[in-house]
Amino acid sequence: MTQYKPGTKALWSGEQEQLRYGATQVPVVHSVSYGYEDMDEWHEIATGQREGHIYGRNTNPTTQAFEDKVKELEGAEAATSFSTGMAAISNTLNTFLRPGDRVVTIKDTYGGTNKIFTEFLPKSGVDVVFCETDNHEEIEREIVNGCQVLYLESPTNPTLKIIDIERVAKAGHDVGALVIIDGTFASPVNQNPLELGVDLVLHSATKYLGGHSDALGGVVCGPESLIEQVYHYREINGATLSPMASYLLLRGMKTLHLRVKQQNENAMKVAQYLKTNEWVE
Ligand SMILES: *Cc1c(COP(=O)(O)O)cnc(C)c1O
Repeated sequence: MTQYKPGTKALWSGEQEQLRYGATQVPVVHSVSYGYEDMDEWHEIATGQREGHIYGRNTNPTTQAFEDKVKELEGAEAATSFSTGMAAISNTLNTFLRPGDRVVTIKDTYGGTNKIFTEFLPKSGVDVVFCETDNHEEIEREIVNGCQVLYLESPTNPTLKIIDIERVAKAGHDVGALVIIDGTFASPVNQNPLELGVDLVLHSATKYLGGHSDALGGVVCGPESLIEQVYHYREINGATLSPMASYLLLRGMKTLHLRVKQQNENAMKVAQYLKTNEWVE
């Protein structure tokens, strides 16, 4: 569905393949295990030669529809999902970082992300350097000092700072770094970071994607070769998105484009009012 606009993708992408009995909505498949005609069928599915599911921690039809929908909205080759946004962030970082690696990031990342960088990664021997979020020269200088991962967030939650993604992603690639961005606060309707050169874009689906504060979830999108590795980390370590949460996120996303459009309009009105207010800088 790559040719369609975000509204159509938010409504229908990823769903067709999971529909049964002429239903127009994706079913919530709670089954953890699956049945097969014979051992050959099981073996073909288990080894990826045939489409299908083996066990709920690995894959699930409802969850697959959610992943496919976000994948289409981000214009990505592949996507994999997580129980929360924080699981998306920690699993993605843990997939690629090794002791001795160096991460360049910004001071304004989401609170939980900041804790990963200050509390947990140093314990695994990963060095993290924090740059002033809007100081692009400083970010570029630290990248040149060496980094395996450049971790960005734009706009930042809650300080709403903006990074020139294309500029710093290029600097990251010049030193061979993997460039990851948390795009939660823009949503795929306002920003598609893969088009700006980043390798992986992740979201807390709990926020704009779900939109109703009734489901936690996370997702990461990018090229198949990278997503495969993150998926493998997650399927083994177990931060799997539940089928019910997948359904609620799918349902929430049907109005993603409408909600974001209205939120943009409202935010612009507030910004224009504040701009004319003499008490506000
Ligand atoms: C909320 C949020 C997260 C964490 O997501 P959870 O689903 O709460 O784990 C990560 N990044 C940003 C920008 C967020 O707003």
